[in-house]
Amino acid sequence: MPSIVTFAEHRDGRLRRPSLEAVAEARRLAGALEASVHAVVVGAAVEGLASELGAHGADTVHVFDQPELASYATEPYARAVAQVIAAEKPAVVLVPFTSMGRDVAPRVAARVGAGLVSDCIALAVKDGRLEARRPMYAGKVYATVRWEGEPQMATLRPNVFALGAADASRKPEVRKGTVDTTARAKVASVHATASGKVELTEAQIIVSGGRGLKGPENFHLVEGLAAAMGAAVGASRAVVDAGWVDHQYQVGQTGKTVSPTLYVACGISGAIQHLAGMSSSKYIVAINKDADAPIFKVANYGIVGDLFELLPKLTEAAKTYFAGKS
Ligand SMILES: Cc1cc2nc3c(=O)[nH]c(=O)nc-3n(C[C@H](O)[C@H](O)[C@H](O)COP(=O)(O)OP(=O)(O)OC[C@H]3O[C@@H](n4cnc5c(N)ncnc54)[C@H](O)[C@@H]3O)c2cc1C
Repeated sequence: MPSIVTFAEHRDGRLRRPSLEAVAEARRLAGALEASVHAVVVGAAVEGLASELGAHGADTVHVFDQPELASYATEPYARAVAQVIAAEKPAVVLVPFTSMGRDVAPRVAARVGAGLVSDCIALAVKDGRLEARRPMYAGKVYATVRWEGEPQMATLRPNVFALGAADASRKPEVRKGTVDTTARAKVASVHATASGKVELTEAQIIVSGGRGLKGPENFHLVEGLAAAMGAAVGASRAVVDAGWVDHQYQVGQTGKTVSPTLYVACGISGAIQHLAGMSSSKYIVAINKDADAPIFKVANYGIVGDLFELLPKLTEAAKTYFAGKS
């Protein structure tokens, strides 16, 4: 029976949503490919994560649970995934297009000699082979890509692939493995910067600010609206380069790729490099005083107006709305 292997990323003892999306997508493809679904989880004290992967569609979970794997390191993590691929000879390998996935997937692909299609936003099975859709040239065009040979390896854009309800009655087979943990580069320490805040790439709602805010002293207007909506905060490169906010908030070609349900762009012109990181959002709301700003071309809803007047009013309205819901 052919198989599909997925890489499961976790943080602070919890699976990250894009990992579950990858398993759920593998389950969906498994029907057409008549394949079994395998997930690979690498880390320390991670065996407990297997049941959730099973509930979302994994038939088998390969667990590499070693104290030396507590912090992510490219080489041993890639080695573990490559080991499973060598053993299972899967038709398809799916990895989330997260920072970790972007790092580990090319290394795995090189090890196993697979073609890697990155940042896929849709997958389909045609004549028993995988077909992927992915943006190119900063989102100006969408390419349909097929692979030669196997495994057909893809990274999946977070928040694009549907995550259905978990089925706790699905119990996966757990296979324990060990991997050589030698690494030329190791994590010496981790300095968390955004504790307690919603992670940008996994957020369902993002409120982003641009140069229209005029200065760092006004960025609290964006943060205030985000807090009122339970949203993550994003930014354009212009404000990151100006030093108003840290690079971790940057959305776009050289920042993070996001696909929330709702993206609110405040004082952002909509340069192609910014759109590259957010145009696959389900709903885009733009607030800009220039009616000809390119952001309005991709926006579902647009408000032509002064954000200094609008953001405080929207924040108050959001507070009232969400207070009524809780
Ligand atoms: C190789 C390369 C990579 C890049 N990568 C990225 C990237 O990853 N992400 C990214 O964002 N950019 C990126 N850029 C930069 C990009 O080209 C733009 O320069 C940048 O996105 C502009 O940011 P902005 O929209 O905040 O500023 P601006 O383009 O200056 O737009 C500010 C907007 O605010 C509006 N405004 C002003 N005052 C108000 C007000 N009072 N109320 C409402 N609206 C107001 C204006 O009408 C204007 O539309 C990249 C560029 C290059 C060359």
